[in-house]
Amino acid sequence: MNYRHAYHAGNFADVLKHVALLALLDHFGRKPSPYFYLDTHAGRGRYLITATETQRAGEYRGGVLRLLEASQPQPPPVVARYLDLVRELGCEAEQLVAYPGSPLIALSCMRGDDRAGLCELEPGETAALRSELAGDPRAQVHERDGYEALTALLPPREKRGLVLIDPPYEAPDEFERLKTALCAAVARWPAGVFAVWYPIKHGDAAGRFLERMAATGIRRQLVAELCVQRDDSPGGLNGAGLLIINPPWQLDELLAPVLPWLKERLAPTGRGRSRVSWQVPE
Ligand code: SAM
Repeated sequence: MNYRHAYHAGNFADVLKHVALLALLDHFGRKPSPYFYLDTHAGRGRYLITATETQRAGEYRGGVLRLLEASQPQPPPVVARYLDLVRELGCEAEQLVAYPGSPLIALSCMRGDDRAGLCELEPGETAALRSELAGDPRAQVHERDGYEALTALLPPREKRGLVLIDPPYEAPDEFERLKTALCAAVARWPAGVFAVWYPIKHGDAAGRFLERMAATGIRRQLVAELCVQRDDSPGGLNGAGLLIINPPWQLDELLAPVLPWLKERLAPTGRGRSRVSWQVPE
């Protein structure tokens, strides 16, 4: 396992994922009953901007930093909230010093009786996450395979909740493993909301994954995609997407103006695209 999220922390793909995460958890916070949040690939929780990997890759400069530094005309409310949260959790004297990962972002939304299960396989990342969250009784950190956790930890005792699946896509069979685990998890917990992050790269593996998911018979599959390059540009990460199964009511309408707004600012070449669309409706 070579993947280190420190290289990518705060890039455009993290911005998309974490804005959507906030939008999803806002929905759960509207009802008083507690909810469960499962993060199958949680990472270390907090990424120092001064870390060698983060500085070397510099990806955050074209993502969160671009949004923080430019004076933005009226961001959509969920983006404004995301930026406020990044400032609160990661800025000192108005300088970005750390980028909050999905566990910190989620816990900042959660109430006292909501519960988080956070899985991470890499021991160093798990230790960092444990120390980051030490003393937070809502969070349980598991050093374990996130796909196995989908079986072990679902369904939760709470009736409501969100599962974020954010794998590194290092293994050649990751999409296949993901599809198998996701279908089994939805069958175990049909009422759960599932958000799966995926990369958009040359070769269209993501498109084939979406086609196979559409053919599963699982209803209510929403897709939100943000590309900062043409989909088929060779080389790196051209875009990122989220497949959301069972999205909360009106999430599509909430995200629809957010993605073009982000694209306008995060795809300076003008080549990217965005979409929010149902690939399998009600
Ligand atoms: N969700 C995090 C966030 O948004 O801040 C970023 C997660 S990063 C994309 C993927 C993480 O999954 C890495 O920290 C990696 O060590 C971990 N990982 C890789 N394979 C895993 C597995 N099978 N189960 C759980 N974690 C895994």
